Amino acid sequence: MRICPDCGGGHEHTDFTCPACGFKPTVINGFPCLAPDQARMNPGFDPEIFGDFVAAKDNHFMLTYRNRLVTREIRQHFPDVDRILEAGCGTGMVLSALIHAFPDQNIDASEIFVSALEATRHVIGDADVTLFQMDATRMPFENEYDLIGMFDVLEHIEDDRQALENVHRALKDRGGFVLTVPQHPWLWTAADDAVHHKRRYTRSELAMKLRNAGFEVLRMTSFNSLLMPIMYVSRRLARDGASEREWRLNPAVNWVLDVVSKFENAVVNLGINLPVGGSLFVAARKA
Ligand SMILES: [Zn+2]
Repeated sequence: MRICPDCGGGHEHTDFTCPACGFKPTVINGFPCLAPDQARMNPGFDPEIFGDFVAAKDNHFMLTYRNRLVTREIRQHFPDVDRILEAGCGTGMVLSALIHAFPDQNIDASEIFVSALEATRHVIGDADVTLFQMDATRMPFENEYDLIGMFDVLEHIEDDRQALENVHRALKDRGGFVLTVPQHPWLWTAADDAVHHKRRYTRSELAMKLRNAGFEVLRMTSFNSLLMPIMYVSRRLARDGASEREWRLNPAVNWVLDVVSKFENAVVNLGINLPVGGSLFVAARKA
């Protein structure tokens, strides 16, 4: 069910128009916008960086590792999902993998920035995915999705508790929630400032916030563990934060890091939960 942001009434109109009060979402560049006041807050993507992102999508060890991990865990824990929402799809890096891995499912994806939605549309081509602009702290759904994913999104949201409550409400009973976040506050570097992170999580903080929002945690493991020391040192050495440079890896370096990541991925696939790592993966269920 969709919840009208104006009158609070519930309805099933897929274009978000409200039959009770006549609310229609603002449309910017073809995307329905549910929080249009925030749609243009960012200055837009530097075309050069965007080009790097698209080139990195299918090759960069960190992106391909996250995609393999996320799609495998979804299949493992939530084999029967139909309606999927990726909240905060960024430029479509995970979304393209979800489209590939779940071709028979109905996938929606949202983003707060319209410029990112435009990038996503470019990345996913003519894939049949509904894209819309939304602020995750004002998510207008109830009992709507079988699965919601948030991949490196929650750490950007000041009121993460509200976002988690909204995800819980938007899920059907026993619906699945999969997310990744940056881990360990002590790993904070200029790279976190550069991409406007509000926090890096500890396991206990995230577990507590998920429980408080009504989730049962099915799996929680660190990843990006073996390469964490290299990432940390490289980011500390780059005064401005290394995040931009990290997307333009020398192919030979990327190959080595990919081999290491695939080894770690194999360990995680055995069901072993790693205690320490640059990132944290969680699969949870609406309890
Ligand atoms: Zn209404």
